[in-house]
Amino acid sequence: MAILAPTSVSKDPCPPHLLQFLLLGSPENLIEPSKTFHFVGFVDFLNLLLQIFGSKLKSGKIEQTQLRLLTASNNCSDLTAKASRKPLGLTEELKNNKLESVVETDDGSGLFEDMKRRFLSFKKHKYMENLEHYQNLAKGQAPKFMVISCADSRVCPSTILGFQPGEAFIVRNIANLVPSFERGPSETNAALEFSVNALEVENILVVGHSCCGGIRALMSMDDEVEKSSFIQNWVVVGRDARLWTKAAASKLSFDQQCKHCEKESINRSLLNLLTYPWIEEKVKNGILSVHGGYYDFVDCTFEKWTLDYKEDNLKEKHGRISVKNHLFWS
Ligand SMILES: [Zn+2]
Repeated sequence: MAILAPTSVSKDPCPPHLLQFLLLGSPENLIEPSKTFHFVGFVDFLNLLLQIFGSKLKSGKIEQTQLRLLTASNNCSDLTAKASRKPLGLTEELKNNKLESVVETDDGSGLFEDMKRRFLSFKKHKYMENLEHYQNLAKGQAPKFMVISCADSRVCPSTILGFQPGEAFIVRNIANLVPSFERGPSETNAALEFSVNALEVENILVVGHSCCGGIRALMSMDDEVEKSSFIQNWVVVGRDARLWTKAAASKLSFDQQCKHCEKESINRSLLNLLTYPWIEEKVKNGILSVHGGYYDFVDCTFEKWTLDYKEDNLKEKHGRISVKNHLFWS
């Protein structure tokens, strides 16, 4: 049994063409864990460009969002963010085609040389050796899984769970949160709508993880959301998980509370999935299952469970729901 309750907001001004790139053009299977940090917001996309294209763009041009990863005593990361109201310097860079010149001036000895080697290796050993499979994939996709996981570079679901191209439709966000239907459009529920209604996936898997900086940010923030913080405005989606955690684990240390909340927020997201009528209908009819997963990268274990859908259970007091098929892989 897992503790659960109701939820809150999210809005993100990511332009549709960028959303398409982020959802469909993700380098998910080309880049190893720890080499990239997946973002889905527009500002975060710009930061991703900064990370990819390196020091030439770093000269104080992207001060609108400062992400700071602080290493805590338990090796967990603290994620804090501060956003100013200044216009984006990088936007001007892009307009002036500076980005192109940065690419051209890369001396080829760094990140992109490695990336090129990995891509050509993928092409030779995976694509060309399974040509028919990849040519079929070029015509369409029919993944069995929709996966929602954290943007954290250490928890790439394709790497840790072995998803191959075509097997999972994946969206990644800070703290692997699913906003409720009432909160309106976001990248995450756009991906849900497409994968559930168009691709007709049979499973939705929400993957949380140990030492989640997004959950730490959720547990650390004040009750009032700081309006200028994009991160706070996103992680507040997990406010109810935080409330349940504070109620159930108040006597534990802050680190332990965060760990509790990492799992609590997954269950909250499973319930939030059912606030979408087109998801609940399919779950009720047994053609779609929703699962939670928790990856502990400190000791490399994976916990998986499935929501045991029972209408009566979902609105039950105390916010508890039933789960089944609870497995622990170590
Ligand atoms: Zn995380």
